[in-house]
Amino acid sequence: MRKIGLYWFGNDLRLHDNNNLEQASAALDQLVCVYCLDPAWLAPNQFGMAHLSSLRWLFLKQALQDLDRNLQQVGQHLLVCYEAPVTAITTLVSKHGISAIYRSRHGGFQERQTWLALQKQLPGLRFIETDTQTLFHLKDLPFAQLPQSFTQFKDMVEHLPIDQPSSACSALPASPESKSDWLFNFPVYLAASSAFDPDMAFQGGETTGKRHLRAYFRSSYPSNYKAVRNELDGWENSSKFSPWLAQGNLSVRKIYANLRRYEQENGANESTYWLYFELLWREYFQWYALQHGRRLFAFRGIKQHKPLTSFYPERFQKWCNGYTPYPLVNACMKQLKATGYLSNRGRQIVASCLVNELAVDWRFGAAYFEQHLLDYDVASNWGNWQYLAGVGADPRGQRHFDLEKQTRLYDPEGKFINKWQAEVRNLPLDSVDAADWPVDPEIAKLACILPA
Ligand SMILES: Cc1cc2nc3c(=O)[nH]c(=O)nc-3n(C[C@H](O)[C@H](O)[C@H](O)COP(=O)(O)OP(=O)(O)OC[C@H]3O[C@@H](n4cnc5c(N)ncnc54)[C@H](O)[C@@H]3O)c2cc1C
Repeated sequence: MRKIGLYWFGNDLRLHDNNNLEQASAALDQLVCVYCLDPAWLAPNQFGMAHLSSLRWLFLKQALQDLDRNLQQVGQHLLVCYEAPVTAITTLVSKHGISAIYRSRHGGFQERQTWLALQKQLPGLRFIETDTQTLFHLKDLPFAQLPQSFTQFKDMVEHLPIDQPSSACSALPASPESKSDWLFNFPVYLAASSAFDPDMAFQGGETTGKRHLRAYFRSSYPSNYKAVRNELDGWENSSKFSPWLAQGNLSVRKIYANLRRYEQENGANESTYWLYFELLWREYFQWYALQHGRRLFAFRGIKQHKPLTSFYPERFQKWCNGYTPYPLVNACMKQLKATGYLSNRGRQIVASCLVNELAVDWRFGAAYFEQHLLDYDVASNWGNWQYLAGVGADPRGQRHFDLEKQTRLYDPEGKFINKWQAEVRNLPLDSVDAADWPVDPEIAKLACILPA
């Protein structure tokens, strides 16, 4: 009997270093490669926001088109369904008599729930899940419970061996599903324009991700990374791997292998170590999300500590649109909205402002980042927000950045603020008493119904 399987692509949109795809290829006669864009991602969530901005969708669409082209080189193609995954996959299973489903492990609570729902819906099928998005495999981690702090985690894992990345499969079993022009089935809302900041033009996909990786390690930037990684602007000041990493267009093990090769050829220094150190932060948050499940999204975080914040719709809207009394914060928020990217320092500054100066519930900030960041990653985003809000993995508690000091340190001449025309004068925080502010009634309602 012919063995037919399904590969469910998620945040692993690539062919290289995808041992899950290699396993599927070795075991099957036919294979359906599918990606599901859940219409629920475009509907307002409990914070009144869609999961995807149109820029994020553009970046994802580029990656899907690139994956489709690359699959065609190895005798396959990508089927993209605009449907909830359980519905789409169940239909494909009965249509083709599929007996095995493959995917990369995902740390997100919702994604895990969907995987479990699929197993319940389709008993008797084989479900194969592999770690392709992390440096380490779950089975190799030297602890049963994730350490409470990043430092403890780092000390336990930083010397563990890391798999060499594999190259892309040269051929895949053919698909029983005919090729279709999937973009026709998508809503018009998703016709996006590209970012207007030419310094930050990201293009999605494995092909551009690999090109960017080569260019970065051919330059001398890695040797200087630690000195400049906190700058607010500038393509060369940090690696910019995150958008491609978030979609899995680049494998983190491939980045690591390139970093080691760079060190052999150019010498290791504090900066090259620091790049690895930051990849370990990413790694920590991936396992953190898996361990803490839905508590990643809880107001009290993993600490069961209730922050002294609330929901002030006017303040929140001013923060989103860059009209707070703080020019540096405004510049960052305008950059985020226009480009889908914000430096790590910028993210820390605006998150601290939302929580401390504006006293707004941190989860609204996290949801706004989710909508806009091209590199949105459930684990890194919600984990970092918890950390900043003092309800996460930070042993020191809440982080409060002095905005004037940050401006003096990182934008002493006001260039970044000018670039984003973010200077404001005498702008009050609240135009009227927050309780009287005439907000969108839909958003106002949310403040009352959100679970703590
Ligand atoms: C409030 C907040 C929200 C964030 N949301 C996200 C998110 O949704 N997705 C995301 O990838 N990163 C997120 N980060 C982490 C970090 O800001 C970005 O990874 C980084 O700015 C991406 O730029 P880069 O690739 O040039 O980073 P580099 O400085 O070059 O770092 C190299 C890589 O290390 C990893 N990394 C660096 N810093 C962190 C960190 N603090 N946490 C986790 N991984 C890190 C990333 O994979 C990054 O690509 C967030 C940080 C904050 C403070």
